[in-house]
Amino acid sequence: MVDDKVFMKEALKQAKKAYEKNEIPIGAVLVKDGKIISRGRNSVIEKNDMTSHAEINALRKAGKKLENYRLPGLTLYTTLEPCSMCAGAIIESRIERIVIGALDPKRGAIISNLELTKSTVSNTDIAVTTGVMEKECLEIIQEFFRGLRERKKK
Ligand SMILES: [Zn+2]
Repeated sequence: MVDDKVFMKEALKQAKKAYEKNEIPIGAVLVKDGKIISRGRNSVIEKNDMTSHAEINALRKAGKKLENYRLPGLTLYTTLEPCSMCAGAIIESRIERIVIGALDPKRGAIISNLELTKSTVSNTDIAVTTGVMEKECLEIIQEFFRGLRERKKK
C-alpha cells in the first residue's frame, strides 16, 4: 500500500494543477513497473473538450509514449472514481489495475452507479483498489466547489 500512496500523491499534484486553472480538480497518473509513464489532469474548460478528463489525458499520453493503443500491465491512479466515458476508455486500454482515491456517488462508473469494468462490456479483468488517500482526494474537490459557491455569492 505504500507504493499506492506514492503514486496517488502524484495524481493529487495533477489535481492541484487543474485547481489552479479553475478546472474541477481531478488528476491521474499511469504507472508501469514502478515508474510513471504519463500524467493527466482535467482540462475540459481550457481545451473546450468534454473528453479532456484526467484519466483519458493520461491514457492518451501513455499510448503515444509506448506506441501502443493497448496498455497491458499498467496501473491507473486517479483521484476520483472514473465516469462512464473514462471507464469505457479504461476497458479499451486493457490496463491491469485501477487505484481510486475517492468514490463519486453521482457519476462513478466503476463501483458507485455502474460496474462497467466488471460488466459484460469489458473483456478484460481489471483489478480495482479504492480509498487510497480518500480524504485528500475528496477535500480538494470540496474546497474547489466551496470556492465556486463563495465567488458566486459575491
Ligand atoms: Zn471521466
